[in-house]
Parts: sequence; structure tokens; C-alpha cells
Amino acid sequence: MFQIDETHAPSLRSWVASANGHADFPIQNLPLGSFTPLGRPPRGGIAIGDQILDLAALAASGLLQGEAQVAAEAGAGGTLNPLLALGAAPRRALRRAVSALLAEGAPARPELLHKAADCTMNLPAQVGDYTDFYAGIHHATNVGKLFRPDNPLLPNYKYVPIGYHGRASSLRPSGGEVKRPLGQRKPPEGAPVLAASQRLDYEMELGIWVGAGNALGAPVAIDQAASHIAGYSVFNDWSARDLQAWEYQPLGPFLAKSFHSTVSAWIVTPEALAPFRAAQAPRPDGDPQPLPYLWSEADQQNGALALDLEVLISTTKMREAGLAPHRLSLGSALNMYWTPAQLLAHHTINGCNLAPGDLLGTGTISSPEREGFGSLLELTDGGKSPISLPNGETRTFLEDGDEVLMRVRAHRDGFAPIGFGECRGTIMG
Ligand code: MN
Repeated sequence: MFQIDETHAPSLRSWVASANGHADFPIQNLPLGSFTPLGRPPRGGIAIGDQILDLAALAASGLLQGEAQVAAEAGAGGTLNPLLALGAAPRRALRRAVSALLAEGAPARPELLHKAADCTMNLPAQVGDYTDFYAGIHHATNVGKLFRPDNPLLPNYKYVPIGYHGRASSLRPSGGEVKRPLGQRKPPEGAPVLAASQRLDYEMELGIWVGAGNALGAPVAIDQAASHIAGYSVFNDWSARDLQAWEYQPLGPFLAKSFHSTVSAWIVTPEALAPFRAAQAPRPDGDPQPLPYLWSEADQQNGALALDLEVLISTTKMREAGLAPHRLSLGSALNMYWTPAQLLAHHTINGCNLAPGDLLGTGTISSPEREGFGSLLELTDGGKSPISLPNGETRTFLEDGDEVLMRVRAHRDGFAPIGFGECRGTIMG
């Protein structure tokens, strides 16, 4: 499933010069997205350095055959749902063909490229449903401690991949403004008030894109689950903690989450991530063995992802002073208690049908150490301990004008490092 092939060779270079040594998009990555060139309709594309390969132009070029041509045609429209629906084999064929086409030594085809800086990125797919999980066990523990210091994890956590149904309509691609939400907040004394959130936070997550769907009533077996995943993005699940604290019982998150979520524009495929698969960390002694529908030896051996997760902040004052964004955290996706395949298998075990282009959030991923905490709620101990920025400003939660920038990168000795591109959003009052 996750085979290493010639497309991963670290020696591979592209005739697109900006791709060589590019921090996110060298020729070994080839992520999928939807973009709009200036004055023209949206279409699918593949990032290569600071350029975008136009899948509509590629499909019309006559350069591809077989499954690769089928995949390029499916990706030629404004949303990638038809391409995601095809599953792994055509996607892999397209990757191989595009890798050969863009490799150094192949004839340069600049007519198939657009300068990324001249294009607008769209959501990669039309998201029918978005589900958010809670697979970051250190995040769940840190947040649980704020409410239950002696018993932070609820008893179901190590048996059930906890999740809730999110809101697809308010998903936006990286780069936009995020309006501070209004909502009900309950002061410590007195009646609740309607006001703008004062405890606005980000959540560092991975987005998991569903590829081929499943029929209603037909669960996806754990050993098949990875083949239903079309790729991954950076995902910021903005959260209004004050609204959340008042509204979340008994039915869970609602308006504190549904006002906006930001997803990075590129889908990094399982093929690109093959070198960065890892074994799932062994369950600590005393943790229960998951039920058989969640357990696969193969998934335990290579179902985790060794990805660095970085969050940076840039305030208005920092930008005015020309200061670089300040890193708030650097963590790892290895801190998920459940693998992506376990999340997908669990989601469908009741017969729920997933559709191509559905988006699953992993839940906030935090490291055990403070340096890798994936939200301000954790970094500031629930808002009690402000963090200091290099210019003397402090933050407990996000202020208007704050820009949050998230990056995900993968590296491993013997392979070309790749990245996911930015997930960026700025708070507006
Ligand atoms: Mn979340």
C-alpha cells in the first residue's frame, strides 16, 4: 500500500528549477489542489516548486495514457471530488506520470504551468461532511486536567475514537480572514451574555481527505481503511473556548467550533507520505486492547505519520515592526492515540457512509512537552499564564489582527523532505 518507488528517489530533480530544494513542493511531493488562474475558471492542479501544473491542460495535452489520463481528466474540474473518488491506483498512476513529465531530462513544458503567486487557491474539494476527532491524547489529557485534575481522561477515551460532526459550510482555504464569533458566554457570576468571544483559540490538527467512499450500511474494515484516504492537509479548527465552556454539555461542541475552520490548500497524498510512515507508538502498560474492528497489525506497524507540526503567530505590531512570525509550538503527529485508519474504520462501523471529499480532523495534536502543545488553551494553562512574545507583547488568547500560521513538514534520512504548504488565517474583530 505504501510502497517506495522511483518517484521518491532523493536524487530526483525537476526542470522546474524552483522545485529543487523547495521546502514544501519538491518533485517528490506532487500534492493535489484546486486553483483559479487569473481570469479563468477553476481547475485541479499539482504543486511543483513555486508553480502549479494545470491538470485541465495536462488532460488535454495527449501526454498521458491509461489510468493516469483518467485521473488527470477527473482532476480537470474546479473540485477534486471526482479524482478523489477514483481511489489509489489512478492517483498513483498520475503521480508516476507527472513525476516523469516534470523530471530533469524530460522536455520542459512551461505551457502546462502557472505561477502559483498569480493564482487563487480554492478548497481542494467540495466537502459534503466534516467530522472532527479527538485523537491527540496529550491534548485530551491537558484539557481534561483543566476540568478534572485527578481524572483527566474520561473512561471511554482509550476504547472509542471520540469525535463529533462538524460543519462543512464554514471550511475555508488558507489565507482568509476569520471573523471573531459572537456567542453566549457565562461570566463566573450572573447570567449569560451575548458577546464577541474573548477566548478565541486555534487548534493544530491534520485534515484527512476521504477518497473512495463506502455505501450506507457497509463499514470499512480496518485493513481497507487506509485505501479510503486520499491524503492529508494542515487543519486549523478555530475554537471559541468561552462559548464552548458554556454550551458543550450535554451534546458537545456546536457554535464554538462551527464559525470557521481553515484548511491548507494542498492534499498531500499517501504516496508522497510513504517514506514518512511510522509504527504506532505501543500502548502504555495498562491501556486496554482495542476491539478487533480497530486493530490491524499492519496498521500498527506503519499506520502512523512522522510529521512535524509547527504553529507560529504574527501580531499586528510584529508585522508593523517587520518582525518574523514567532513559533508557538513544534510538535509531532506521532502523538495521536489512534491512527487515521482507526478513525476511518470507527467512523464507518455503524454503517455511516463516507463520500469522496469528506474531511476528517484528527483533533488537536499536542506533544507531552509544552513545546509541542497545539493550542493556546494548553500553552497558557487555560488562560491563567500568558505567554510572552519577543516584542514584549503577551497573549492568553488571540487578539484581533493576530495571524496564525501552521506548517507541517516531513523529513527522514535518505529521502527528500517535503511540506504541506501553509495554513494561515488572521483574526478580524
Ligand atoms: Mn478540533
